[in-house]
Amino acid sequence: MAATAEHSFRWAGRELTFSLRRAEVTRLRIEVHPDGSIAVVAPAHADNAAVIRRMEKRAPWIANQLDRFERWRPRSPPRQYVNGETHLFLGRQLRLKVVQGDSDEVRVDGDRLRVQVGEFNSRDTVARIVRQWFAEQAKSLLHERCREQLVIWRRHGVLPPERVIVRELANRWGSLTPSGALVLNSDLVRASPKLIDYVIGHEMAHARYPDHGAQWRRLLSAVMPDWMERKQALERQLL
Ligand SMILES: [Zn+2]
Repeated sequence: MAATAEHSFRWAGRELTFSLRRAEVTRLRIEVHPDGSIAVVAPAHADNAAVIRRMEKRAPWIANQLDRFERWRPRSPPRQYVNGETHLFLGRQLRLKVVQGDSDEVRVDGDRLRVQVGEFNSRDTVARIVRQWFAEQAKSLLHERCREQLVIWRRHGVLPPERVIVRELANRWGSLTPSGALVLNSDLVRASPKLIDYVIGHEMAHARYPDHGAQWRRLLSAVMPDWMERKQALERQLL
């Protein structure tokens, strides 16, 4: 019976759209989700105009939340896959060095990412080989970080997820699915191990508390006291 309707209003040049549900609450409840959606629960008898007025008052806070989640989304500049270009790997800037050889091979050699190309040395070939190498590294390294971190979380009473999935994610670093899978963005392999651990911790704390409220913060702080610094470092390193 509690139908959800879409409403929107303009504030500071942006259009803010929210879903509105009525319930037996005494005050307007506003939730801004990481995917950019805004969910509002209003008292059963408040009229729409009053809801909109209240939303306009809270608009600075809403916009701030939206901006924070926007910053949290990974963005990586397009790569050219040419000699000398830098690529982040585990928080280190590696310089691409492309050489011709007998077979395709990628390895880290000091601060170089040495890419040996067997066939004709086109930029597409280099791109394909490097992307494939990064994807393989992401799978093994992110699973390795999880194995280590999930032991720590278990000690704090948070059971490990059903499974860990490493794959490309369009706009988040990680998520915990309703079916209990921890999904990590393969792009995280660019970040330092400590910062990867933060993303794992961020999601594991969601296993207990779905939002970013006081309880979620308390749990995360108990397991990882310096999570805030790591979060900021991740934003600096990867954005
Ligand atoms: Zn979160």
